[in-house]
Amino acid sequence: MRQRLSHHVNGQRLWDRLMLLANYGARADGGVDRPALSDVEAEARAQLIGWGRELGLQPFTDPIANLFLRLEGSRPDLSPVLIGSHIDSQPTGGKFDGAFGVLAALEVIEAIRASGEQPLRSIEVVAWTNEEGSRFAPGMSGSEAFAGVKPLETLLAVTDAAGCTVREAAERVLARDVDVPQRPFGWRPAAFVEAHIEQAPLLERAGVPIGVVTGIQGTRRYRVRVRGEAAHAGTTLRAERKDALMAAVRMIRAIDAVASDPADVMLTVGMMRLTPNAPSVVPEEAYFSIDLRHVDDAVVDRIDAEIRRIVADECGPCSATLDQIAHAPSLDFAPQIRAAITTAAEAAELPAMPIYSAAGHDARQLHYICPTGMIFIPCRGGISHNPAEWAEPDHVTAGARVLADVTMALASQGDEGAGRA
Ligand SMILES: [Zn+2]
Repeated sequence: MRQRLSHHVNGQRLWDRLMLLANYGARADGGVDRPALSDVEAEARAQLIGWGRELGLQPFTDPIANLFLRLEGSRPDLSPVLIGSHIDSQPTGGKFDGAFGVLAALEVIEAIRASGEQPLRSIEVVAWTNEEGSRFAPGMSGSEAFAGVKPLETLLAVTDAAGCTVREAAERVLARDVDVPQRPFGWRPAAFVEAHIEQAPLLERAGVPIGVVTGIQGTRRYRVRVRGEAAHAGTTLRAERKDALMAAVRMIRAIDAVASDPADVMLTVGMMRLTPNAPSVVPEEAYFSIDLRHVDDAVVDRIDAEIRRIVADECGPCSATLDQIAHAPSLDFAPQIRAAITTAAEAAELPAMPIYSAAGHDARQLHYICPTGMIFIPCRGGISHNPAEWAEPDHVTAGARVLADVTMALASQGDEGAGRA
């Protein structure tokens, strides 16, 4: 009897690569700082291409510098199965967010090579550009461009804090990719599967190594700009001030109150900039972010309306503008991919449970164009975007084993199988 592909997954090799990739952008505290399209990310990318070439994979890129490593199937005319995640990180990132999904995908190819089999469909490992959105906000621009969710020109025009555009940064990366052909957008994969750390503590608390991700909760992100007037802190009466920060504080307090019901609404003001940001000057401008998430779109929409009302009502003598920079409704992943993950976990005798994703992922964008799913593994304390981010080696291996069998199952289906939405 033919062995399942997961039998050929080498957990130690995968772990060693995770630790090696973490050297690119390594922080002194053990974390990773690998901004999208930076020099250090380009070096990590070159490492991935190198590993791919050793396995005989053909690298490809595209106009926004997504990276694909292709293993040719016996029917290269069929659309490929795509597996992977991203290798950019938050400034205070860890070793696993994104990198695990890409390197687990590479380990799937290793397992295929070790098995000596050739899948029917081609399989491509993918590293999407700018998932995190910390250098270029908002994130997921690579997968959005690929899936046609937003126009490429819009995504390329986004700038970082230094004024560098995605276009300029991507061109620098692409210039290093000598011998890596560029493919246009517009083709559809047969399926996309992304393995990822959970970034929440549910699997760890349940003692379950595999999460079958059912969907992703809805998100809205905003930027609020409150404009007042700079004034002397010692001579301007409070009643006569146009204090932008005090107006922002009133808004945030009111928004916090409406977001406290129901209790599982996620609301974060994670960024604020003051102008001129001087101790003895009444703030002229306050600029802050709002990140709102919940599984129920109706709840997100209700709080959205409240946020808009509050920003208008609480600005007092100042003026305020609110820009919604991202809106993603809740989504459910393809039932056939969820079923394939459940089947693979059962066959590998790995406990699994359905789980909702609280964080956004590139899989959201792919879900719009092909059957898509995600495999979660636990991470310690649910901590991520933090140098303390940690996944147990056994869980890393378990996730890669399930990904291997799911990938092979999808890549073995002909026209009537994996490509069916
Ligand atoms: Zn991630």
